Amino acid sequence: MTLEGVTKRFGDFTAVDALDLTIDEGEFFTLLGPSGCGKTTTLRMIAGFEQPDAGQVLIDGTDVAGQPAHKRPTNTVFQSYALFPHLSVKDNVAYGLKRKGVGKAEVEERVQAELERVGLWGEANRRPSQLSGGQQQRVALARAVVNLPKVLLLDEPLGALDLKLRKGLQIELKRIQQEIGITFVYVTHDQEEALTMSDRIAVMNRGIVEQVAPPEEVYERPSTTFVAGFIGVSNLMPGVVSRLEGENAVVDLDAGVTVTAPANGIGAGEQCHAVVRPEKLYVTPKGQDAAGRANEQSVEGVVASSVYLGTATQLVVELRGGSRMTVLCPNTDEAERQSLPGGGADVRLSWTPEHIHLVRESGAERATADHEAVTLPASQAAG
Ligand code: ATP
Repeated sequence: MTLEGVTKRFGDFTAVDALDLTIDEGEFFTLLGPSGCGKTTTLRMIAGFEQPDAGQVLIDGTDVAGQPAHKRPTNTVFQSYALFPHLSVKDNVAYGLKRKGVGKAEVEERVQAELERVGLWGEANRRPSQLSGGQQQRVALARAVVNLPKVLLLDEPLGALDLKLRKGLQIELKRIQQEIGITFVYVTHDQEEALTMSDRIAVMNRGIVEQVAPPEEVYERPSTTFVAGFIGVSNLMPGVVSRLEGENAVVDLDAGVTVTAPANGIGAGEQCHAVVRPEKLYVTPKGQDAAGRANEQSVEGVVASSVYLGTATQLVVELRGGSRMTVLCPNTDEAERQSLPGGGADVRLSWTPEHIHLVRESGAERATADHEAVTLPASQAAG
């Protein structure tokens, strides 16, 4: 499936801005982003509940513009299960097949197969109101999958469930998707959910896509400050590229040290941010030698806070220039935990060079900054 330049405006507001995406057949693809970033609107345009103002949605090479939702080779699972309350579980799942005129024996066979797949054949004669939320969502899934859509669209389907149930269903949804091989396009604002389930993730912000990549890459090599902050903790050290050395950039960090990292397309003289994930940082009291890891890079700072989290201790360290870095120290050894520096201590933060990564300011933030610069009255702009 391909989205080409897909745009949706509500009055003056652009909810989805010239979106280009290619989703492979059989892929578990997730649209991830904060509330209001345009992910549901994108899904609704694929489903046919909303028409784009510009651009094309191509499914199997065919532009589906103008096709009503029920004629498209898609099915949608919503957060509110939207089951028919007066029909049994079995009849809910059979509904679409019966409307299409599929023969009775085949309907029975397919309905049973899908209810078995989601573990609910035993509840086939119950009404939706006699099931738990998680069970109702399984019925909604079976009802969508039984129609063998080319693409299954899922809009925060686990959003109404409690955390434990959600985690169980995440694994189950992924298993079902792998088993049936249908393309899933999944909408969520939950980064952990996206990392757990997806083959690839599109991270959206203010109507645009900031990065499309597999989970490990989005986490380990975010392409913008927004992605770095939305997926995980925003551990950003601002700086300026002083020069390029082959593929690498030499960056003068505001924190007062110079580091080298892959340039990632950022040129000499450009502002950027260096990212190191919290679990990749080591903290040692200032002046005390680190464990002597090869080629280590480091920066000095002061511990602003220390919080015990059970499996780990989280330190926040303030660097020169004001940026704050979060460090996650695993609580594997009690003596080591006891000796961690406390609030106010001068410390050194270090990391190995493969764990530092350069990112640009996010596209949407740059666009907003440009917009503000243009629309600011001259008097304010001068001041
Ligand atoms: P959420 O997780 O909160 O649903 P989202 O990323 O799915 O967020 P959308 O529902 O796609 O966001 O909405 C994107 C933006 O478009 C929002 O600012 C929303 O207020 C606006 N919007 C969506 N539908 C309409 C509408 N029918 N009329 C006007 N504005 C709308």
